[in-house]
Amino acid sequence: MAIVTEPRQVLDVLRKLQAIDDEIRDVRESRDSMVGNLQRLNEVLAQREEQLGEMRGKLGEAETWYAKKTGDLELEREKLQKAKAKLNTVSRSREYVAVNRELDNVRKNIGHREDEVERLSTAIEEFRSTIESEDEKVRDLRAMAEAEEANNRDSLAEMDGQISEVNARRKVISDQLDKRLVRRYEKIFKARESIAVVALTDGACGGCNMNAPPRLVEAILRGSSLVQCPYCNRFMFQESSHNADGEAVAAV
Ligand SMILES: [Zn+2]
Repeated sequence: MAIVTEPRQVLDVLRKLQAIDDEIRDVRESRDSMVGNLQRLNEVLAQREEQLGEMRGKLGEAETWYAKKTGDLELEREKLQKAKAKLNTVSRSREYVAVNRELDNVRKNIGHREDEVERLSTAIEEFRSTIESEDEKVRDLRAMAEAEEANNRDSLAEMDGQISEVNARRKVISDQLDKRLVRRYEKIFKARESIAVVALTDGACGGCNMNAPPRLVEAILRGSSLVQCPYCNRFMFQESSHNADGEAVAAV
């Protein structure tokens, strides 16, 4: 398509470019927010999974400790059996007293160790059930993240399709303009909150609201040149000289 040079026509094309960029921007924003949500969900999941892994590690340590303590208790019980057997073989009373004292000590020891093992066992049970419930929560969260990802896959593909479709339409429009003008437009679009083409409203720029100098207002009304706001650089058009689609309306 031929490059458009007549100022009114150039402005029309610029307005179409702005309209189509508005369209892409919305889709891009939805896409970014969807991708961002998914990322956050996966981060939370990864964190919870890591915590769960740490908890399992601690449980393993506690179980090792428990096994050791149970082993110690078993040894102590064997000692008790031996001392009891010894008691049956001693005849002298002094020896008898000594073995009896040993028996008392072993019994006391066994008592302490039994308490310890009991406490440890209770703590491990509690910890195990905490881990189980956390594991359940993490599984739910993982299922949610997977479902979300599956749901979003279609939407994301759809949005990518939309973006490339809109980009194709955009190219047809931007090809009608001088490349340098397109670059100028894009620079303003980037610098000015994604709005590069604005209407003149009551003599003020629709972008920055500054009053346009009368000489520029006149030039806009005449449509004899492309006018940019002296304050924000945005391209300005006269609302009444265009219809809702941004097409120039025949001068009356
Ligand atoms: Zn302005």
